Amino acid sequence: MSKNQKINQCIEQYIEQFQRWGHQHAGPVPWSLRFSGSDLTYPHIYFSACVHGNEIGSLPAIMNFIEKLIDNKNHYPGTLTFSLGNVEAMKANVRFLQVDMNRHFGDKQSKEPESLRANDLCQLIDDCDIFIDLHQTIEPTSEPFYVISDTLNNRMWSQALAVANKAILRNPKVDTYLTATTYAYKKQKIASTIELSQKGFNDFATQLCENILNKTLELAIILKDNFNLEKFCKNTNTLSWLIMAHYEKFDGPFCQLNPGWKNLSPIKKGEIYGKNQEGKPLVSPIDGFTLFPKYVDRDSAGAAIGPLPKDIMTLTQVISH
Ligand SMILES: [Zn+2]
Repeated sequence: MSKNQKINQCIEQYIEQFQRWGHQHAGPVPWSLRFSGSDLTYPHIYFSACVHGNEIGSLPAIMNFIEKLIDNKNHYPGTLTFSLGNVEAMKANVRFLQVDMNRHFGDKQSKEPESLRANDLCQLIDDCDIFIDLHQTIEPTSEPFYVISDTLNNRMWSQALAVANKAILRNPKVDTYLTATTYAYKKQKIASTIELSQKGFNDFATQLCENILNKTLELAIILKDNFNLEKFCKNTNTLSWLIMAHYEKFDGPFCQLNPGWKNLSPIKKGEIYGKNQEGKPLVSPIDGFTLFPKYVDRDSAGAAIGPLPKDIMTLTQVISH
């Protein structure tokens, strides 16, 4: 059996197991599990996996965690919800089939199956107090990171959780992406996307995800009574807060990055990182870190094949407050 066949078989087994658990622990929408708490003064926590079908790295830890919940080896007095976002894309081991699900949360126009599914998952966000959205990056990442709508609560929650050192802040007022965490912002939930590692199964992602699951519950238990994040954060290390400072358009099929950029590679002001459609150098206007570099398939002439992503890379900058 080839490596890819083994991975696909493994994904298939996780999906089947998740479905079997659904007989006893079905959540309110398909492909969700709910474990109702005995003490509803504890926050309801919702862990979302595989909104992007090929970001499967959270699965081993999530499945292990749920198994322990069922066997009473994991305990949490409040309610827990889990979901597999895009099962059809998981089976095909692709990011999405028709449309990127993570651009359609709360989208009332699109009738694509993945948009409808995003709206199913909105119900789960509506129900919860704390929302953790587990993702992985397309290209390698030099370290894991949070992506959050910039609210004080989201900042404090991410800092208190302390599973990554950097948080990308999205300004929710200008955020036009209908992501799950943008939807959660609109519903005034505490929400954090965590990019674990590059996509796929790997030990680093498994360990980190296990840590996230355990620490989230621990923190919810500690904070329960008055949920005083501010007080708790006084004793925690501050994170590096990064803003999206520069979006570079993918301005034509010959626009191209120099090789080797990862997520969160340091970049200097004046550094050339690629070229645009006309062949002019792309020069960094800031000292900062790279984010979401796009390396796409190209033909023998070097032209990008298929629909172009909107941006070829984003540059982020550390802010002091
Ligand atoms: Zn993702």
